[in-house]
Amino acid sequence: MSRWGYHIPILAYHRVGALKSDHVPTVSPETFERQLEFLVHHHYRVISLNELSGCLDRSERMPRRSVVITFDDGYEEIPRIAWPLLKHFDLPATLFVTPAEVGLAGFASWEQLTAVAEQGMTIGSHTMHHSYLPLVKEEDLSQELMESKRIIESRIGKAVEFLSYPVGGFTPRVQSMAKQAGYLAACTTNRALSKGAVDRYSLRRIKITERDEHILPFRVKISGYYDAFRQLRQPN
Ligand SMILES: [Zn+2]
Repeated sequence: MSRWGYHIPILAYHRVGALKSDHVPTVSPETFERQLEFLVHHHYRVISLNELSGCLDRSERMPRRSVVITFDDGYEEIPRIAWPLLKHFDLPATLFVTPAEVGLAGFASWEQLTAVAEQGMTIGSHTMHHSYLPLVKEEDLSQELMESKRIIESRIGKAVEFLSYPVGGFTPRVQSMAKQAGYLAACTTNRALSKGAVDRYSLRRIKITERDEHILPFRVKISGYYDAFRQLRQPN
């Protein structure tokens, strides 16, 4: 999968909605819809994290033009605005949520999450408290990784199999605990231990913001060769 520099692009969105003056990376609904339209019209294969994980299990090469769509943080606009657009184009996606923030102002509620999960959206864990994991004490790691998983599962009635590290931060210890907790894979940002092979407990992602409003930068990001142009960061 990483041969010749090709990496399956896993897109990391945060909020899809009205552009506000806060620091949340946001994509307007119009831009998001145009991006989905572009993927569909140009015959990209938008696949779920589950499909990606299955390919990794079988050491299969991903077909070119595969793309994964993910959202971090669980903003209320995702079930309300982004998911209906994804459903319209029949595209899968994963939403990573933080139990301590579910239902707070601006965040999706358990009812919304349960509803979109029933309609096929994958819900993953973004830890219990949106903690930067390299700084979390050993004794608190299990709450962040295991308890968050358990709570989401009991609320939405579906297995939670994917994790997203807040701010992308992880350590080898965090990775092995994620595996132990039963996650099939975990997503980071552009952080990596090594530039080489794909590591399913640090799947690199590409952040999408309104700056990708024009189709050219978006096209570069979904090419699978974007990693060749960007600086990888330390995992912690
Ligand atoms: Zn986050």
